[in-house]
Amino acid sequence: MMSALLQQAFCELEAVYIDLERHDGAESCRACGQCCWFEVAGHSLFATRLETLYLLEKAGAPARPFTAKRCGYHQGRRCRAREGRVLGCRIYRCEEAGGFCSEVAERALAEIKRISLSNGIPMEYAILHARIADLLAAGLGETCSGE
Ligand code: SF4
Ligand code: SF4
Repeated sequence: MMSALLQQAFCELEAVYIDLERHDGAESCRACGQCCWFEVAGHSLFATRLETLYLLEKAGAPARPFTAKRCGYHQGRRCRAREGRVLGCRIYRCEEAGGFCSEVAERALAEIKRISLSNGIPMEYAILHARIADLLAAGLGETCSGE
């Protein structure tokens, strides 16, 4: 059963994500999906505990193995977790797509920190695939999904 605090935190997080759409710049992204191949893109995807719980609530467990090389929600060129994807996925833009705006990212992350702490959720930042594995092992993904 999802706690009232977690529900409240999810509502506030959704407001942050909606606000980000104003800065999206999606028109410059050709949705090639290269950045979801972390090894190819040369980066790692980090997320807070709150973002990861929200991702699991919206998308459930990844259908494929989620590794340091490739996102487990990535299928073909598509994201199978679009509604729940974490902040890093929402703000990342490769150079070709115009680069990402650190000011927007920092503002959104500060807001996620505030939401986490005000709703009793630890503000931990971790590599996403490791965080998902930990949460699923603890049964937290199942607790969130389907409620
Ligand atoms: S940000 Fe760049 S690499 Fe990622 S999907 Fe868009 S165009 Fe492709
Ligand atoms: S959640 Fe979606 S956008 Fe983010 S890395 Fe995975 S497939 Fe890509």
